[in-house]
Amino acid sequence: MQDHFDITVFEGDGIGPEIMQPTLKILTQLAQDGGYHLDFNSVPAGAAHYARTGESLPAASMEAARKSDAILLSAMGLPSVRYDDGTEISPQIDLRKALTLFAGVRPVRIIPGQTTPLNMPEGKEVDFVLIRESTEGLFHTQGCGEVSRDEARETLLITRDISEKLFRFTFNLARERKEQGRGKGRVTCVDKANVFRAFAFFREIFDAEAAKHPDLIADHAYVDATALWFVLKPWDFDVLVTENMFGDILSDLGAGLMGGLGVAPSADIGLDHAVFQPCHGSAPDIAGQGIANPLAMILSGAMMLDWLGLRHDAPVLAADGTRLREAVETVIAQGKVRTGDMGGKATTQDAAEAVMTCLSRA
Ligand code: ATP
Repeated sequence: MQDHFDITVFEGDGIGPEIMQPTLKILTQLAQDGGYHLDFNSVPAGAAHYARTGESLPAASMEAARKSDAILLSAMGLPSVRYDDGTEISPQIDLRKALTLFAGVRPVRIIPGQTTPLNMPEGKEVDFVLIRESTEGLFHTQGCGEVSRDEARETLLITRDISEKLFRFTFNLARERKEQGRGKGRVTCVDKANVFRAFAFFREIFDAEAAKHPDLIADHAYVDATALWFVLKPWDFDVLVTENMFGDILSDLGAGLMGGLGVAPSADIGLDHAVFQPCHGSAPDIAGQGIANPLAMILSGAMMLDWLGLRHDAPVLAADGTRLREAVETVIAQGKVRTGDMGGKATTQDAAEAVMTCLSRA
């Protein structure tokens, strides 16, 4: 078994470094106890780096990311720092495109005790995964849309190549969840095939992949109805897959159901690389105060362990990924240690220490 993993770390902007440091501490402790090594290499990128140097994602940082086993990223971008055309600095999107990270994995989980705006029926839990295509769709012309005085145009692109990879990944994930007893083995393609030809094309490729997985259930839903069901009966979902912009919107809705961005992790995964980062941004309004919620970042670290464990056939890492997720879920469900975004007064350090304590008791 490979027991040494090189991890490129982007500490990023705003609250980025504040939530990354405790996450690295927890991961280091797990590795030490589990007999494997996580070698963290912190590299520069982001809006503050751009303001200082004129570079948002230095070639050397990109190269380090490309060569490493996995990439951990906190949050990048600052509203006050922009490119000349007015758009925000977002190296995380550049990384997705450069490393072809087509599968944006956004788990949505609500366990008993967790604060949620939903009216959860007794005994129900929410545990589904939204997969957002992350390299094309309506983001295809990002930064180069055509704008004249009277018209503005962006192009939605759906390719067979990326869609096939995306759906293969999705069905495999649904199978893993089913084998772990976490899912029903059901995959829902979320689109707007009743209105746009591009989505009929997307759906056709989905159906072709579905035919290769007779052990799994495949179905379809329109994106507008899906938004409704996210609120009315999210416990019915298992694995959903959708286009980039639809996924962008639905994943924030999913984070809202979980009680906020501070507890929503994510992974952007391709064939050879993966980036793990919280769904939230750099939260400059609370940066430097030590009050940011680190749980989404820590959960993203747990997703990294899962992915490394599966990819390298290293059950110790996969088991640590589960332990870490369960420890965070225990802290959330107990509700004793809550940062400001969750209605409490705990600091970043308090929240991270609560996770450490749970881990040491497990
Ligand atoms: P981006 O466009 O970069 O995703 P955003 O504009 O959606 O960013 P965020 O930076 O995610 O904005 O912040 C949105 C709000 O949520 C802010 O009020 C911020 O303080 C709060 N927030 C985000 N992340 C956290 C966190 N980890 N802990 C506490 N509050 C947070």
